[in-house]
Amino acid sequence: MLKQSRQQWLVEAHFKVRWVTLTALMIAIGMHMWGRGYGAIAWGLLVLQFFAYPYLVFLRARSAIDPRKAELTNLLFDCVLFGVWSAVLDFPVSITYTLLLGATLNNAIIGGWRGAVRSTLYFSAGAVSWILVAGFKFSPQTDLPVTAWCLVGLSIYVTQIGNFVFVQRKKLRDTRAILQREELERKAAQDILVAKNIELQEQIVEIRQLHAQLQDQAMRDSLTGLYNRRYLDETLERELARAKRESYPLSLMMIDLDHFKKVNDTYGHQAGDEVLKFFSGLLNEGARAEDVLCRYGGEEFLLLLPKMPLEVARERAEQWRADFEARTVVVGEQRIQTTLSVGIAAYPQHGATPDQLTQSADLALYLAKSDGRNRVVVFSPQ
Ligand code: GH3
Ligand code: MG
Ligand code: MG
Repeated sequence: MLKQSRQQWLVEAHFKVRWVTLTALMIAIGMHMWGRGYGAIAWGLLVLQFFAYPYLVFLRARSAIDPRKAELTNLLFDCVLFGVWSAVLDFPVSITYTLLLGATLNNAIIGGWRGAVRSTLYFSAGAVSWILVAGFKFSPQTDLPVTAWCLVGLSIYVTQIGNFVFVQRKKLRDTRAILQREELERKAAQDILVAKNIELQEQIVEIRQLHAQLQDQAMRDSLTGLYNRRYLDETLERELARAKRESYPLSLMMIDLDHFKKVNDTYGHQAGDEVLKFFSGLLNEGARAEDVLCRYGGEEFLLLLPKMPLEVARERAEQWRADFEARTVVVGEQRIQTTLSVGIAAYPQHGATPDQLTQSADLALYLAKSDGRNRVVVFSPQ
């Protein structure tokens, strides 16, 4: 579409140049012919050349499939015909120069030096063909009015060419400016897109972190930071299945603080909370990475100890019990000292399901309590 309109533009521009310039030139040639007494045929040809010819070549180029190519051929027609006219008029200097310059300049604009040389050759070919028909005659002088009209024609022609170049350059500049602006806009839009993308990525990371945090919170007890009962229920089942699959032992420890009600009653609920936190810290200190420490209820803790045989579990429990008994929890002015009881059950000796194991540990804990508290009891089927 753009190409088509560009080609039409070329054809129309040349038509205007041809028409205006040739009119001025026709006056010059007419005056010259009048002075030299040319016959009717020459006058007829002049009218044809300068009135009919511009329209004919214009129509030819406009209706061509490739208007640009047709117009280039028209320019070569111009050269040949101008050559013929120069020879017909016996090469009057100002007319010949005007015709030759017009033909050459047009071709040079489109085809550069090659175009200029080619147009000169075609011009010469036109002149030579007339010389072959009518013989060579050379009468270079022209009257002042003829020269003046040639100069008028040339001036109009050169100014028109200058104007067309100016218009084209302006169009080019405008188009370039539009393209640059569009490019800037495109870049800005792209930058916004990139920024939004980064923002989105950051949000996704943040959401993932929040999600992970929420998931972690959902499985932890808020007071002590230990796992909650729900998490332990899920994990116990999974860990037990793995222990079975990979044939390793697993111990379960149920710990309950002794007479905790009394701690609360004596020192207050908040002090009781501090004791619970303190004890959680103690558990964390003595635990391995794979141990699952859980606050099972109020002051009740359940520890899941994968790959820990019963004997080791008992020693570990004894250690925690002794530590806790030996330590004093300081809350403000108050110094709180208390004890705990532990019930232990182990896989595979005391149960093969989560329920069996927890019940066994619970029963052992019950025995520890009934035996006088502050002790570790391993479940026994009896
Ligand atoms: P025992 O030796 O038989 O275990 O006696 P106990 O008093 O510890 O037994 P019990 O289970 O009857 O009492 C548990 C107490 O733990 C009751 C409740 O006030 C207290 N408790 C439960 N949860 C919390 C808590 O989150 N913070 C505090 N400070 N106390 C709690
Ligand atoms: Mg208790
Ligand atoms: Mg209790």
